[in-house]
Amino acid sequence: MRGDLPQLGQDPRVTYRMGIMGGTFDPIHNGHLVAAEQAFDDLGLDVVVFMPAGRPAFKQKKHVTSGEDRYAMTLLATSDNPHFIASRFEVDRDGITYTADTLTYLSEMYPPNVELYFITGADAIAEVVSWKDADKIAELAHMVGATRPGYDLAHAKRAIAESPYDFDVTYLEVPALAISSSYLRARVKAGQSLRYLTPDQVTGYIHKHQLYGVRPRRYGSTAL
Ligand code: NAP
Repeated sequence: MRGDLPQLGQDPRVTYRMGIMGGTFDPIHNGHLVAAEQAFDDLGLDVVVFMPAGRPAFKQKKHVTSGEDRYAMTLLATSDNPHFIASRFEVDRDGITYTADTLTYLSEMYPPNVELYFITGADAIAEVVSWKDADKIAELAHMVGATRPGYDLAHAKRAIAESPYDFDVTYLEVPALAISSSYLRARVKAGQSLRYLTPDQVTGYIHKHQLYGVRPRRYGSTAL
């Protein structure tokens, strides 16, 4: 077992529930953290593993911050919550990150009394039917689509209903998901504060490593 994955499944009489928080996390923000905590509570999870995507499928033409930086920010953001673990599993893998491969690895790693809950944005859930080995994904994990209030789920629900595979999807409404990574990146570029949008340690990392077009002369200023 990798050191950055939780020990679960020891008692064969007990069913354990492991959340896998999948996302690019470029950067991680409070919306992600609140969504994971809400999933932990609402779905009775034992742990949530944050797994930043290595080379995300479908983003080959977009610039994505290095896996090392996204993992470091994820680790900083999750370190004070005993329900959360950050894993380098996908960041360490060569090639494009496919969710089916991750779930296959985890299901082989853990005994059958460990259930997998893959948590991601509802926009991504709408696309899951077209992901590589979607049939395997449906077989290996429950899916959890986190959305902001007012988000129209019709597209996602139709895609899932029309899929030939038997997806089990739970939708979670998370008010804090009004925050998005693109909003944070735009604020950094404009020299604006990230306070209360992401943990201060993440903001510190962004400034120290000059991510997202940060303006160096604003170090130590109110922009932090
Ligand atoms: P995305 O398209 O960048 O994100 C779609 C939306 O969902 C965005 O609004 C995003 O907001 C939000 N979001 C993403 N992850 C979230 C999370 N864990 N909780 C709440 N909201 C979230 O999606 P992505 O980040 O590239 O991919 C999401 C996950 O799906 C990753 O684990 C990725 O590896 C997987 N995926 C797999 C395949 C495949 O296997 N073929 C294809 C695509 C994606 P923010 O920008 O604020 O995060």
